[in-house]
Amino acid sequence: MLRGSLFEQKIQQSDPTVRLLLQVVLERYRDIHARLMNVAANIAEEEKNRQKSIFRILLLPIFKLSGDMKAAISKRKQTATQKRNYIYKDVVSTADNITKENNLKQALLDKEFEMYYQPIVDIATGNIAGCEALIRWNSSAYGFVSHDEFIGLAEKTGLIIPLGNWITRQSCNAAHEFRKLRDIYMSINLSTRPFESPSFVHDIKEAVKAANIPNQCIKFEITESVLMLNPEIAETALNKLKDAGFSIAIDDFGTGYSSFSYLHRFPIDTLKIDRSFVIEMFNNKRSMEIVRTLSFLARNLNMKTIAEGIENSAEGEQLNNFGCDYGQGYLYSRPVPFNEFIELLGNESLPTTATA
Ligand code: C2E
Ligand code: MG
Ligand code: MG
Repeated sequence: MLRGSLFEQKIQQSDPTVRLLLQVVLERYRDIHARLMNVAANIAEEEKNRQKSIFRILLLPIFKLSGDMKAAISKRKQTATQKRNYIYKDVVSTADNITKENNLKQALLDKEFEMYYQPIVDIATGNIAGCEALIRWNSSAYGFVSHDEFIGLAEKTGLIIPLGNWITRQSCNAAHEFRKLRDIYMSINLSTRPFESPSFVHDIKEAVKAANIPNQCIKFEITESVLMLNPEIAETALNKLKDAGFSIAIDDFGTGYSSFSYLHRFPIDTLKIDRSFVIEMFNNKRSMEIVRTLSFLARNLNMKTIAEGIENSAEGEQLNNFGCDYGQGYLYSRPVPFNEFIELLGNESLPTTATA
């Protein structure tokens, strides 16, 4: 191919007719090229517009739709994830409960439970009149487990029946030993499920008989919530216990819904004033009045009173002035294992300084 300058030289030197002809051809070519460029530009513009229209009319809604779909999908994914999380949590909590339930069963076999005993003291003299049996679970897997966690689970799974029987047997045997040192009573907490067992009263009587102690030295503590759950069954069972010579205390009194209605319906002989009133006595005049009134009420109904959660001597003195019979709390002693309780029984009377 000829380079530009050489091509020009050749044209300059060629025949004028040829030159003219070439000029015409080249001009036509330039024209055509220009027009073509123009058309191409228009086509490009049209194409751009056409594409824009296609985008606006067809693709945009599709994209929007797909955006919505994306959002919907991600939402569905989210809800699915949430659902999966819920299911996962359910599964985990069920698995956790099954594990705990198995651990609870195993704990009974492995003897991981232990009964602690907290003195109940004659407020006027400081002498130990009785004790409350309180369960502790020192799990090899979890360490000390709160009663909130395992008593509820034991109730739910029905394990409370064998556990409750174990508590009763253990507490009665301990009472037998304690009573060799002092004539004290044993207070045992009752939970809901055992009431529903037809052999409930029979099992208790058997445990007390086996421990060789009189029924009169056993007191059962029952909360209002337990009474409320099935009042008819509770009433029948409590009457049977009472007829057999056992005592009945209403626990955490004042924290339930209709406390007073229980006092004449059930055969209750002891009222335990809830710790929350005792704590608040010196901060809240009403709590002070509630404690005074409850002590007065119990006395007039021929019931004994036990104030729970006494932590300092000022509270002890105030309760003594109100005529409250017994006290329980860190002022006297925390709940302690069997051997330590034996030591406490060796003391003439309990120190009245808080050990908390
Ligand atoms: P509860 O029967 O009202 O037992 C009294 C609770 O108050 C005990 O807690 C005791 O440690 C605590 N306490 C005693 N004095 C004081 C004090 O001065 N200050 C403070 N802050 N607390 C004091 P614990 O042993 O943790 O028992 C809590 C609850 O668990 C019991 O309340 C009872 O409802 C239940 N429970 C414990 N052992 C048994 C059991 O063997 N069987 C059943 N069914 N329930 C039990
Ligand atoms: Mg109690
Ligand atoms: Mg209580």
